[in-house]
Amino acid sequence: MKIKTQEISLPLLKDKKIRIFIKRLDQTHKHVSGNKWFKLKYNLIEAKKQGAKSILTFGGAYSNHIAATAYLAKEKGFSSIGIIRGEEHIPLNPTLKFAIKQNMKINYIDRHDYRLKHTSKFLQKLRLRFGKFYLIPEGGTNKLALKGTSEIIDAQDLQDYICCSVGTGGTIAGISNSIHRNQKVIGFPAIKGSDLLRRDIGEWTDRKNWDIITNYNCGGYAKLSKKLVKLINDCHKTLNIPLDGIYTGKMMLGVIDLIRNDYFPKGSSILLIHTGGIQGNIGLNQRFGLQLPIN
Ligand SMILES: *Cc1c(COP(=O)(O)O)cnc(C)c1O
Repeated sequence: MKIKTQEISLPLLKDKKIRIFIKRLDQTHKHVSGNKWFKLKYNLIEAKKQGAKSILTFGGAYSNHIAATAYLAKEKGFSSIGIIRGEEHIPLNPTLKFAIKQNMKINYIDRHDYRLKHTSKFLQKLRLRFGKFYLIPEGGTNKLALKGTSEIIDAQDLQDYICCSVGTGGTIAGISNSIHRNQKVIGFPAIKGSDLLRRDIGEWTDRKNWDIITNYNCGGYAKLSKKLVKLINDCHKTLNIPLDGIYTGKMMLGVIDLIRNDYFPKGSSILLIHTGGIQGNIGLNQRFGLQLPIN
């Protein structure tokens, strides 16, 4: 697949002698958020191989992973079941409406059960209820997802630093596993809880070429700051690059701030991974009365 990479020009970058490029995974598919396509690809191949008819996965009510799984499962001829954290809210938000339109069966579980979701006892309960299914964990991160995310970077991507947003860590770990020895990948978590995250990422990569910078989560998952909203709208207006409020906007916030603070040596080049997520902006706009870009 050919993915477009474009250079970003900003006065700040000239001053600091830094070059930034952005790899637009968000443009690879209309309905499947950038990195989620890579995470699902080998899982769906495996599910077919195993003869599965149905895909079951977990996520929050605004999850890009839920939307992507619903779409790709349908496209590949599976039925799908989405186990959603929390209670049903009517009217349904745009993410769940989209998922249901793809024929995903939506089931809600409370936060307590959600924490137990990967235990064998809970999975057994799900199997009794839904019959046989191919299980994809929350956020889609497993061994086959890592195989997919290790294909995000290709031979032409020779920048000194790769930057990406971090949720479960499957994307940064796949990048860590696939880059050259002189490259480094820096992750910007969209969520709180950096120790757990470091442990999780460490389970998926043995290399020491990665780090996460935790100061730009804006208070946690789906929490936005005024600064973040302004940055996203500025990027859209001046660079014509749409960013999402949950993930990629926070990465950009971090990268620009680090450049201002001379984190990257003069002369460095940086590749940002646009992991997608724009569908989430529709829900954020409705919830918070914002005008984040939606395409
Ligand atoms: C899911 C998602 C991420 C996080 O990916 P992980 O592999 O879970 O770390 C980043 N950006 C976007 C837009 C996402 O949808």
